[in-house]
Amino acid sequence: MSKRDYYEVLGVSRDAGQDEIKRAYRKLARQYHPDVNKDDPNAAEKFKEITEAYEVLSDPEKRARYDQFGHADPGAGMGGPGGMGGFEGFSDFGGFGDIFDMFFGGGRPRGPQRGRDLEYELEVDFEDAAFGVEEEIQIPRLETCANCGGSGSAPGTRPERCRSCNGTGEQQSVVNTPFGRMINRRVCTACRGRGQVITRPCPECHGQGRKRVRRSVKIRVPAGVDTGTRLRIPGAGESSPDGGQPGDLHIVIRVRPHDIFERDGIHVNVDVPLTFVQAALGDEIEVPTLDGSVKLRIPEGTQTGTKFRLRGKGIPKLGAPHQRGDQHVRVHVITPTHLTERQKELLRELGRELGQHTQEQSRTFIERMKSAFLGDN
Ligand SMILES: [Zn+2]
Ligand SMILES: [Zn+2]
Repeated sequence: MSKRDYYEVLGVSRDAGQDEIKRAYRKLARQYHPDVNKDDPNAAEKFKEITEAYEVLSDPEKRARYDQFGHADPGAGMGGPGGMGGFEGFSDFGGFGDIFDMFFGGGRPRGPQRGRDLEYELEVDFEDAAFGVEEEIQIPRLETCANCGGSGSAPGTRPERCRSCNGTGEQQSVVNTPFGRMINRRVCTACRGRGQVITRPCPECHGQGRKRVRRSVKIRVPAGVDTGTRLRIPGAGESSPDGGQPGDLHIVIRVRPHDIFERDGIHVNVDVPLTFVQAALGDEIEVPTLDGSVKLRIPEGTQTGTKFRLRGKGIPKLGAPHQRGDQHVRVHVITPTHLTERQKELLRELGRELGQHTQEQSRTFIERMKSAFLGDN
């Protein structure tokens, strides 16, 4: 398989400077980072390709060899450029932070802050909550400014050492007390403890180092989520203001109500009407389920409110989608209305036929009521 040219991969010219290469890489790495493209298998490949190109082009020695030999470099054949082994499996890849670690290495400013976590409520359809779905959402978030690489300084310029604290980030004052001289330390107000001040702010981010952008993020909603389920997407929150780890994105699920199905944990409730003829004589009816309609036998003499269970027709269990809940079918016997004269006559006849039977039933009912109120005597 032929490899793409590293300059082409990063979209820079062959005489691009280190800053330009770094900027191009940061931009692409953020776009193709596997943590925000979990469902796109090509993104991982792409990210690997970008990283490999950056590893070579950011190293003057490797870059010189590449310029001379291209991909045919005999010295680059052993396991590829250094450090690539770690990108083979993304399972233990710790999010955006790793990218930033590469840039800031050991020379991080003191106590880098973690980016803010973001929370987003996602409404999904009943069926999608049951079986899972992919959703693409737009989230506004603060991202590291690509123009200045997060430094806040206009490209080509650098922050200067803070004069107030001489770059230490602290201001000291000596206080004379009855017990002797004490040194008072506090965070430098001129540079807010950074030790550096921006003299020419980046025009894109006005010196903030971060910009608010609308970013589309693909969300894989797994089967079995319910209202209130939280999904965490590590590293998809806001960028750190000073090179620390980015925050996480939390997705809170809300399931839209369904016209006929009602959720009860992993079970589904459905109400089904029955005519009183069906209830009295029994019948086979069609019942809607999440998997389409199924046949259900209604036995003779079924009472209103009776529940039937359809095993395994409920919601897949979150994290174990092969286990499913049940569907509970509750039948309602409908009293007929708008009867024709002939239908009424038939019912009257039925009533006379049942007469003695129903009178007996209501008599025992009245007796039971009496003993409930007056005590058994
Ligand atoms: Zn900027
Ligand atoms: Zn200072």
